[in-house]
Amino acid sequence: MSAVRLVLLGRQGAGKGTQAVKLSEHYGAPHISTGDMLRSAVEEGTEFGRQAGEIMDRGDLVPDDVMVGVVTERLAKDDAVASGYLLDGFPRTVAQAEALAAMPNGDALQAVVNIDVPLDEVRTRMQLRARADDTPEAIDRRLALYEAQTEPLIRFYEERDMLLVVDGLGTVDEIFARLVEAIDRIRPVL
Ligand code: AMP
Repeated sequence: MSAVRLVLLGRQGAGKGTQAVKLSEHYGAPHISTGDMLRSAVEEGTEFGRQAGEIMDRGDLVPDDVMVGVVTERLAKDDAVASGYLLDGFPRTVAQAEALAAMPNGDALQAVVNIDVPLDEVRTRMQLRARADDTPEAIDRRLALYEAQTEPLIRFYEERDMLLVVDGLGTVDEIFARLVEAIDRIRPVL
């Protein structure tokens, strides 16, 4: 079976993390979450982790050149070279998408999968699981930030004919089945 090399996109609350883990098992490709990598660095207490932690606490993005360095190294590791990857959380900006297209292994990206859940639906889901300090205003701010960051990326990949949109409404298993169907349709047949 040929390796999958994909980027996953989806609003917070779209179930992207859950699906990424299932897809990683199904295709045998590592799930590479830049958010998880940064959180590990924070826990390890390295100087890099300390700086990243401050940026994350502010709700800002870690600078593009730093993230590009992190992902370039990760995609060069044996498992990603041999088995492909499911990128989650990267790219987040058009500059990162351009850098990915020029990276060894990143240049072999096959498709970008957008798990699509309507804004009203994710807003409701986030409100249901929100903590007391998670006001509707804070939720709206986070969703607006995602929209501002991700809309240009969606256009970037649409223009390159690389975007797959999968309906993210339904049960975990229904959405997973749709994802596998959409991915298998575009994978090069060996
Ligand atoms: P996530 O778990 O993907 O929501 O990421 C958590 C935080 O890590 C984000 O709010 C950013 O501060 C930072 N982060 C993760 N991925 C990236 C990226 N590709 N570019 C910049 N910052 C990132």
